[in-house]
Amino acid sequence: MSQTLDRPELDVSEQAAPAAPSAQQRAEAWLAAFEEALGRADADVVAALFATDSYWRDLVAFTWNITTAEGRGQVAERVRATAERTGARGFATSEPAADAAAPDGRPTVEAWITFETAVGRGKGLLRLVEEDGDDGARHDVAWTLLTTLHELKGFEEHQDGRRPRGAEHGVQRDRSSWRERREASVEGWGKDRQPHVLVIGGGQGGIALGARLRQLEVPALVVDAHERPGDQWRGRYKSLCLHDPVWYDHLPYLPFPRNWPVFAPKDKIGDWLEMYVRVMEVDYWGSTRVVSAARDEESGTWEVHLERRHPAADGTGEQTEHLVLRPTELVLATGMSGKPNVPSFPGAETFQGDQHHSSAHPGPDAYRGKKAVIIGANNSAHDIAAALWEHGAEVTVVQRSSTHIVRSDSLMEVGLGALYSEEALANGVTTEKADLVFASLPYRIMHEFQIPLYQEIERRDRDFYDRLEAAGFWLDFGDDGSGLFMKYLRRGSGYYIDVGASELIADGSVAVVHEPVRELVEDAVVLDDGTPEGKRLPADLVVYATGYGSMNGWAADLISPEVADRVGKVWGLGSDTTKDPGPWEGEQRNMWKPTQQEGLWFHGGNLHQSRHYSLYLALQLKARYEGLDTPVHELAPVHHTR
Ligand SMILES: Cc1cc2nc3c(=O)[nH]c(=O)nc-3n(C[C@H](O)[C@H](O)[C@H](O)COP(=O)(O)OP(=O)(O)OC[C@H]3O[C@@H](n4cnc5c(N)ncnc54)[C@H](O)[C@@H]3O)c2cc1C
Repeated sequence: MSQTLDRPELDVSEQAAPAAPSAQQRAEAWLAAFEEALGRADADVVAALFATDSYWRDLVAFTWNITTAEGRGQVAERVRATAERTGARGFATSEPAADAAAPDGRPTVEAWITFETAVGRGKGLLRLVEEDGDDGARHDVAWTLLTTLHELKGFEEHQDGRRPRGAEHGVQRDRSSWRERREASVEGWGKDRQPHVLVIGGGQGGIALGARLRQLEVPALVVDAHERPGDQWRGRYKSLCLHDPVWYDHLPYLPFPRNWPVFAPKDKIGDWLEMYVRVMEVDYWGSTRVVSAARDEESGTWEVHLERRHPAADGTGEQTEHLVLRPTELVLATGMSGKPNVPSFPGAETFQGDQHHSSAHPGPDAYRGKKAVIIGANNSAHDIAAALWEHGAEVTVVQRSSTHIVRSDSLMEVGLGALYSEEALANGVTTEKADLVFASLPYRIMHEFQIPLYQEIERRDRDFYDRLEAAGFWLDFGDDGSGLFMKYLRRGSGYYIDVGASELIADGSVAVVHEPVRELVEDAVVLDDGTPEGKRLPADLVVYATGYGSMNGWAADLISPEVADRVGKVWGLGSDTTKDPGPWEGEQRNMWKPTQQEGLWFHGGNLHQSRHYSLYLALQLKARYEGLDTPVHELAPVHHTR
């Protein structure tokens, strides 16, 4: 059955041609028809309001999941399963709808929307296009619809007019101070109460989620093996600065100040995270390592064993406290760049120099005048190579497969500028809006919008790429030419945002070789160049810039291999491109949404993702804490275990 969306009745009593409806009228008419059909849970009518190729992405509002319905069939299925219980209504534009162009150039009407459900309030973004209906007339249909849950009714955050008073005026015997209450809150976990949510990993991801849970008044504790928040960044190689610009990197609630550098040095980020934990009152235990976790299905809680290090009572050394916590929800925020992949080469144990994974690389100071071999040719390899070269080391990079390189300036101008930049802000694109625009672009076709951007980058930086290739560097732009973001979303690796190291490769200051490593000997890396003796690369230092494993490896280590296999691979879209095997998943595997293991969640990603998706994860956890009904629609099946 097809649904026609009638244009509003126009007064044609005068001879003049009827004025075409405005973007606002078109958006309102569509929203009214959508709401009316949803209210009747009429799946076919709702489906017919969508284009033949259409995408309805829902972040928790309808599905208690993060999932995209693709095409009318899936839209209808979603409506059948969720419309009645969701009770969505009150769809309205939150600012005048506008005529716009879709990323593929098609004319669209773009409308920011608000709505409510039985339990919450939502925000979204609608894009309408015209399509021929069965009646031969043109009709407005949704090409993309984003619906997101923004807050839960009755559990609104204490912000602005609802902010806490802080001081309690009047007099009260034995009153405790804010500091005393904070200390009691942080130290009381496991003693006088259990956290509802235990977040393992207090990097930027765990911290952002901890802040949101705190605001939502969910009893939650964040634990991290490092001593201080921010140590994750402090411990990385000393030359590291964020590769993404400041506009992309804000944490929830507390944006960076207006004088914050465009590319923050890693120790500055470390300090910001430490300050953030205090200011946002995140209950955080540093020096605390989770040793194991097991789910007790009967009680519906986890038994988590932890080791917490304290300064020894006599002031010398440390003592370790063994603890058990029993949270209901367990979040692994242990980092997608946290579980190093370290290759095992024959003879590695005989090598007399230093060898370590890039995550353990201390920086260049000790290697002045030394010979360094870096295995791998992505971000870390480039950053480390440049810093070693700056300190007078002789550096060779072993490139095992091609790398996508994009110059930072070009990425900022062509790739990010419209959403995350000073100009974007001047155009009214706030961080929240930028995040929602980003979230509204369907993964299925995102590469199609990215390809022309990277063609433009390739064109403008042709000379740069030619010089790199002439130096023997293997380049790619992704399997389908869609560049950096798609590589990141699909596999989280395989690229370098050039902030200088590429020039060193192009001019030969840093050597590149491609032969596979055959073995390590006492003083060299030996490559397999087809000769019996192999090609020797004399080395005092070998850095394995070989990337990181899937986050469910953490589940295998901390919980069990069975649970890790049950939830399956974490990250990637199922795009059937290199390192992202199909079938198509439609969303990033297992991130920020329910998994096949009740009570187990994964959180992380870059700063933008941590900021944006921590909201939806926090709302899912809050709803469960408050005992709301949270039926999960379209729980993703598992196709790959690691
Ligand atoms: C070299 C490099 C450069 C990067 N540059 C950028 C950038 O410019 N912009 C950007 O957005 N992202 C960048 N990233 C990617 C990503 O944002 C960072 O890796 C970021 O630190 C991820 O944050 P996270 O909180 O998810 O994980 P992490 O920061 O890795 O934190 C995970 C934490 O989990 C803890 N943990 C693990 N196991 C346990 C356990 N058993 N018990 C207790 N604690 C545990 C660890 O101690 C660690 O502190 C970069 C990554 C790397 C490696």
